[in-house]
Amino acid sequence: MLYRLLSCVTRKATASAFYRLPVLIMKPQVYFVLGGPGAGKGTQCAMIVEKYGYTHLSAGDLLRAERGRPGSEFGELIENYIRDGKIVPVEITISLLQRAMEETMKSNKENKKFLIDGFPRNEDNLQGWNRTMDGKADVKFVLFFDCCNEVCIDRCLERGKSSGRSDDNRESLLKRIQTYVQSTKPIIELYEKQGKVHTIDASKTVEKVFVDVQKIFDKEG
Ligand code: ADP
Ligand code: AMP
Repeated sequence: MLYRLLSCVTRKATASAFYRLPVLIMKPQVYFVLGGPGAGKGTQCAMIVEKYGYTHLSAGDLLRAERGRPGSEFGELIENYIRDGKIVPVEITISLLQRAMEETMKSNKENKKFLIDGFPRNEDNLQGWNRTMDGKADVKFVLFFDCCNEVCIDRCLERGKSSGRSDDNRESLLKRIQTYVQSTKPIIELYEKQGKVHTIDASKTVEKVFVDVQKIFDKEG
């Protein structure tokens, strides 16, 4: 009796490990999330996490956390770049992203779907990613939140009333928009040529934008 019970439990355990095997050996799946400052990337990522259970990694949040980490050798440099709306050197951003991905997968091996928000923001970011992550992760697609500059600025100014962010002010925003137009838009266009971009009209309400987001993830996520 005991033998039958044990062999049944072992069979079940082996079977469930077998079915999980593809997930365990699968490379991390990456979804880049891009758009202007204030386009709603963070807002929509939080909703995707809630519904689909992906892990959200925001390059900006990781940089802000590193800036605030006691003893960080990069704190001051990061603050200067952020205030000026400039793009922090890629080595710093990639190492933060890589560490966050590794820690997530260490805590749960099946947790392999990552929304990487605010990256790659320029050619340097893209080359850094290809150098470091080529073959280690699969980029599934780019989710592009398309929103005009005026709406982006208004939303960030509104957010600035409570965010405490040193870059949610008009002066920083004009620089951030300029960086976005000059450096990030060409990266989106590059991915577009590869047929890897899903463009979403981000000027609609939060709920309507999420309806469009769900259509994409239900089909291709
Ligand atoms: P991003 O991560 O792209 O910088 P956020 O998600 O932080 O943008 O959104 C910026 C601000 O705009 C936040 O205050 C947020 O509540 C608001 N917001 C986000 N999406 C919308 C939307 N579709 N319509 C109106 N306001 C929005
Ligand atoms: P965000 O939170 O996405 O609005 O980003 C805020 C600021 O963080 C940007 O204006 C940049 O200074 C910096 N930053 C965010 N993402 C990146 C990135 N991928 N590479 C370098 N700097 C970044």
